[in-house]
Amino acid sequence: MASGIGDFRTTIERLVGMVKEFFPLAKLTTVKVGGKARFFTEVGDEETLKNLIKELKKREIEYFILGNGSNVLFSENTFPGLIIKLGKGFSYVRGGETNCLAGTLCGAGTKSKSFDYLEVGAGTPLGTLVRECFDRELTGTEFLWGIPGTVGGAIVTNAGAFGSSFSDILERVRIITDDGAVKELSKKEIQFGYRECTINPPSHSPLYQKRISGIVLAAVLRLERGAKRLTEKKIAKFLRYRKKTQPTGPSFGCCFKNPPGISAGKLIDLAGLKGRRVGGAYISKKHANFLLNDGSARFTDFYQLIELIKFYVEKRSGILLEEEVRIVY
Ligand SMILES: Cc1cc2nc3c(=O)[nH]c(=O)nc-3n(C[C@H](O)[C@H](O)[C@H](O)COP(=O)(O)OP(=O)(O)OC[C@H]3O[C@@H](n4cnc5c(N)ncnc54)[C@H](O)[C@@H]3O)c2cc1C
Repeated sequence: MASGIGDFRTTIERLVGMVKEFFPLAKLTTVKVGGKARFFTEVGDEETLKNLIKELKKREIEYFILGNGSNVLFSENTFPGLIIKLGKGFSYVRGGETNCLAGTLCGAGTKSKSFDYLEVGAGTPLGTLVRECFDRELTGTEFLWGIPGTVGGAIVTNAGAFGSSFSDILERVRIITDDGAVKELSKKEIQFGYRECTINPPSHSPLYQKRISGIVLAAVLRLERGAKRLTEKKIAKFLRYRKKTQPTGPSFGCCFKNPPGISAGKLIDLAGLKGRRVGGAYISKKHANFLLNDGSARFTDFYQLIELIKFYVEKRSGILLEEEVRIVY
């Protein structure tokens, strides 16, 4: 009987079609650092993913689900298991009559004159979602414009900006649990926090005890109807603000969560750290909560810079910053 990692490559190839060994993780994240993945694959549809998850469980092989890798910092270690990305079959936006996921009867809300429901695949880029909403004259996703993530990543991190967060528009999600079971969760069954929720929260989170481990497959969103003219205006305003305040270049967006009442960027600035560098990792002069890779950075540069920031900010203000970026050792 097949077990462990031995003939695993052959098995994934049979199930999924493509598998890469010792794949550079830097290619899978926006900050472009990290070691290697023992195995990496992209899965095209739910049935294949279900079979793959069951196989992983049987062999006790660890996996990590990645969206666009825009909120993840991988260490230099070789990730010992399988890194999974959702392929094209998970990237779609469909209109719905109710807030049920396709093929299910959740027995709840029906669309009305003032709002509509959309079913979106977890691999859908947020930019695609915003554009689709614009075309359908739906409003509520504009704050996501400029966030380089996927729907799955945005749900798990409860992505937010300009006073809105993903949980505001979410109705239901379909996930596949680590046992390979497909499950639907209504919004009420998920607890949301600042840049996290009970689906795959980081181990230091207070939500970790209540965690639901798995892979988000799809979601239903509830969106108000809104004139294109107004949506366009909002998007343009948010984009102008991002351009004015945020740097470009390889990063994972904001490194730290904002403590109550003050932004992490302000605290880093007050500690006199803007522009500070460790190796190839440096703090942006434009936005102190953005750490950038000058092209030569390694994980240890970022790690040391993060520790340095936490040390000096705590010394200066008495506040211990908490990472927003998810570090995978
Ligand atoms: C330039 C820049 C600007 C940014 N601006 C913002 C901002 O304004 N607001 C904000 O909130 N964030 C921002 N971010 C951070 C990031 O883009 C968001 O957190 C985004 O939602 C992450 O999505 P992702 O698909 O890249 O997820 P990833 O980074 O790939 O993954 C993040 C976490 O989600 C999990 N995950 C991903 N997909 C799934 C899935 N299908 N099922 C289960 N778990 C999954 C991963 O395992 C990981 O734990 C920014 C990042 C950059 C680089």
